Amino acid sequence: MHVEDCIDLDVRSLYKWSRADGVTRSCSWSRRGEEIAAIHWRLEKEGLDLVYKSTDKRSGKDELHIHRISTTWTPCHFGGERVWLVCPCGRRVAKIYLGPGKSDLFRCRHCYGLTNESRHNPIAARRNRLQAIRRKLGGSVDLSQPFPDRPKGMRRCAYARLLEEYRQIEANMTIAIFRQFEFMRPLMPLLQQRNS
Ligand SMILES: [Zn+2]
Repeated sequence: MHVEDCIDLDVRSLYKWSRADGVTRSCSWSRRGEEIAAIHWRLEKEGLDLVYKSTDKRSGKDELHIHRISTTWTPCHFGGERVWLVCPCGRRVAKIYLGPGKSDLFRCRHCYGLTNESRHNPIAARRNRLQAIRRKLGGSVDLSQPFPDRPKGMRRCAYARLLEEYRQIEANMTIAIFRQFEFMRPLMPLLQQRNS
């Protein structure tokens, strides 16, 4: 399950909206123009109150949820404070998610084992984008092959933009790969021992 598929609340947006004034507001989520969820919320200095209803799939009965998630504040570099939520698991997070299918409670992404592919695997995400650019140009997805030529009918500036993006991602990817090796380096002596 990916974070992109879940209903979430970002306390930074709620703070921008309310300045933690303790006034009750509501927000809703929709998919393809249809409202799928709505919630009342109130942000105060000490916590975020949530009031919402969920429907039990089996009995069809509505259940009312009234929860408070604690907040904590850290100083910002340029003055002011930044607000965080404290998930019941103890983690300090900016975002909480409604349990994907299994729970009606808001928890952090660690609690629900949610993944964000591009964040966890920057190399894979960049490789996918490089291959997408190659495909768009009608070339091979093999990254070791030369960059594809400009296809007939594609404007020069469009081609130049793709080439520029490609070079930029390629450079970042090299850095990401180096970092990964750096992270692996302490393991190398162990691996060598095992192989000998
Ligand atoms: Zn948690």
